[in-house]
Amino acid sequence: MHAFEEKLKKTQITVISLLESAKSPQELAEVESQILGKQGLVAQLINEFKTLSGTDKKQFGSPFNQFREEIRARIAEKKQQGSPSCGCDNASCSIPLDVTAYRAAPIGSLHPETHAIYELEDVLTSMGFALVEGPELETEFYNFDALNIPPTHPARDMQDTFWLPQPHHLLRTHTSSVQIRAMQKQRPPLSIAAIGRVYRCEATDASHDYTFLQCEGLVIDKKNSLANLFATTKLLLQKLFKNDNLQIRVRPSYFPFVEPGVEIDLTCPFCTSGCPTCKKSRWIEICGAGLVHPNVLKAGGINPQEWSGFAFGFGLTRLIMLKYGIDDIRHLHNAKIEFLQQF
Ligand SMILES: [Zn+2]
Repeated sequence: MHAFEEKLKKTQITVISLLESAKSPQELAEVESQILGKQGLVAQLINEFKTLSGTDKKQFGSPFNQFREEIRARIAEKKQQGSPSCGCDNASCSIPLDVTAYRAAPIGSLHPETHAIYELEDVLTSMGFALVEGPELETEFYNFDALNIPPTHPARDMQDTFWLPQPHHLLRTHTSSVQIRAMQKQRPPLSIAAIGRVYRCEATDASHDYTFLQCEGLVIDKKNSLANLFATTKLLLQKLFKNDNLQIRVRPSYFPFVEPGVEIDLTCPFCTSGCPTCKKSRWIEICGAGLVHPNVLKAGGINPQEWSGFAFGFGLTRLIMLKYGIDDIRHLHNAKIEFLQQF
């Protein structure tokens, strides 16, 4: 028997015995989280399923889906059995439950962006990054000035910005603004990561939206070099795509807040000999990175003579589109159930 099929059967038995063991609504809620929770039995199976070959996925996809439907139905049924009354909010209600009148509502699934954020958070924390957040409504100082982009700098034109009626306020154009806030709050050494929404005032099309998700990483220590940056981003990407054989290549680039700046490409995780995703090149552009510019360290209150840092950033929304083969970014926010049900 195939290892995945065996695991599926074993999980089925575990699920049935767990459901039988739940004697109260509280216990049932606990059991439900053990089965369907973020780290639950089904989530573990989903992770295993993702590692299967294309042929195996075809073979086991349908039984696996049936299995998930069955679990949901069993839990809904168990909930009905546990209900002492007609299902209304009145605890002393004595109307008996009419099981024929009840139809379990379909259970939704997580949005692909939420899936991706959870996965990325797991990878980042496993590598020792502390997750931090910053405001989406930002000041000009944190979004530009402190990142070595003064008002006259042409780099301001690289990012079309939503300026707000209040002077010097805007919707952040990148998560790099969180770097400065983190440096001001914490003393080095530090390694932080921020995942969040950013905004650009530009026309939308299949590959551009006014908002998307970005991820930013920052490490500050006594002696940081490009070698540390490359090793860290390579490991991060290997873990994210669950493939230890992926390699990176580096091209020189320019971002005002790093010196030197680089762009990092990754060997295509989706093919071995060229595919539409990598445009048959076997490489995918993934992130911008570099050693933190001394002016940025100073803006964060850190002495650049004593400390050095590296930073990297990438568009998480773009990775989601690559991973799931989504050809139009606008699908992610148009709330079409038919689209979202696939995930
Ligand atoms: Zn490819």
